[in-house]
Amino acid sequence: MKKRMYYWVDEKYIDKPIISEAILKTKIMVNILMAKIMPQESFLIIELNGNKNQINEALDILEHYGEIEDIPKIIERKDDKCIDCGACVIHCPVKAISQDKEYNVIFDDKECIGCKNCVKICPVKAIDVFDIY
Ligand code: SF4
Ligand code: SF4
Repeated sequence: MKKRMYYWVDEKYIDKPIISEAILKTKIMVNILMAKIMPQESFLIIELNGNKNQINEALDILEHYGEIEDIPKIIERKDDKCIDCGACVIHCPVKAISQDKEYNVIFDDKECIGCKNCVKICPVKAIDVFDIY
């Protein structure tokens, strides 16, 4: 199974190899989708891949060093504006947007990480992504 989340590292643990610890102790696969690391702040969007026990154990480790938040529904397409041009599909870094056999564009909320690439590229401003960080 797969779990995506936002993760804020406590200031006092910023120099600790937390992700490595989670990987070594649980053998979980971790995909870092976005990272904003500064001297006083560390924010990541991460994806855990493993079985339920591995994910729960990894969450315990991560929560020990910081704060976890589930990724909420953040993307909305205005169907009356979208012309199914497909530009957003190729600019999405996590494949949250796809096209079906009829070339209709489909958005997958569960995969979206809120990067706003699709908003910037859409020629008819058909996409809203709500601010999350
Ligand atoms: S904001 Fe748009 S481009 Fe970014 S992950 Fe979500 S759907 Fe993909
Ligand atoms: S870029 Fe805009 S108009 Fe083109 S498919 Fe995506 S949402 Fe629709």
